[in-house]
Amino acid sequence: MSFKDLDEAKRVVSYYAVSNKKGLKVDHSDSHRVRYKCDSGCPFVCLISEDNKNQGFKIKTLHLEHNCQPTFKNRRATQQALAHYFKNKVQNNPKYKVKDMRQDLDVQFSLNISASKMKRVKRLILEKLEGSYLDDFNRLEAYAQELRDSNPGTNVVINISKEALEQDSQKHFYPLAWAVVDRETSRTWKWFIQLLRNSLELADGEGLTLMSDMQKGLIDAVTHVLPKAHHRWCVRHIEAN
Ligand SMILES: [Zn+2]
Repeated sequence: MSFKDLDEAKRVVSYYAVSNKKGLKVDHSDSHRVRYKCDSGCPFVCLISEDNKNQGFKIKTLHLEHNCQPTFKNRRATQQALAHYFKNKVQNNPKYKVKDMRQDLDVQFSLNISASKMKRVKRLILEKLEGSYLDDFNRLEAYAQELRDSNPGTNVVINISKEALEQDSQKHFYPLAWAVVDRETSRTWKWFIQLLRNSLELADGEGLTLMSDMQKGLIDAVTHVLPKAHHRWCVRHIEAN
């Protein structure tokens, strides 16, 4: 069995310890290896060290023999190991409560984790998730800056809603304007047409003819934001409608 780094190896050992209800202690640890022994002095030993042939880490020694009783407070149930275990569950259900997390561990592993520790685990998960959202946002902002730099006069607006951080990221620039929105609604169309109006200084739309499909929200938005603009339908869409 091999691991990409020591963190991964330690996590797997933590899973082993927790799921087998064994208390393991770190007997030796440095940047090249980690060795575990049983808390109760059993013959168990596990040594993981650098794999010289390939990159990564490998189990070099493993004796699984224990004579000890199951343990219900496990020091290998570290915050990091628990955060990794619960990450997807919390991500898929942000309302997953600390109480439910504790119950899950009790049912799965007869493991008793204090409420305060579980709270810290949940906070750790949420902070990490927020961090990855921030990374996505920063990439988007860098892209917007790239557009501004490479096309002077470009108007880029990024508007990310809290509810739909990934779906509702909106970009808009001139002379080509486009937006990514969660849904084509009166609200998003109005937002888009307003940006277009400000960007192109269209005022009330006098002397302007817009051509579009017959999307209801779009028609309403144009009527509202550019009341004096003429609005014509694209022939292809008239035909389709
Ligand atoms: Zn043991």
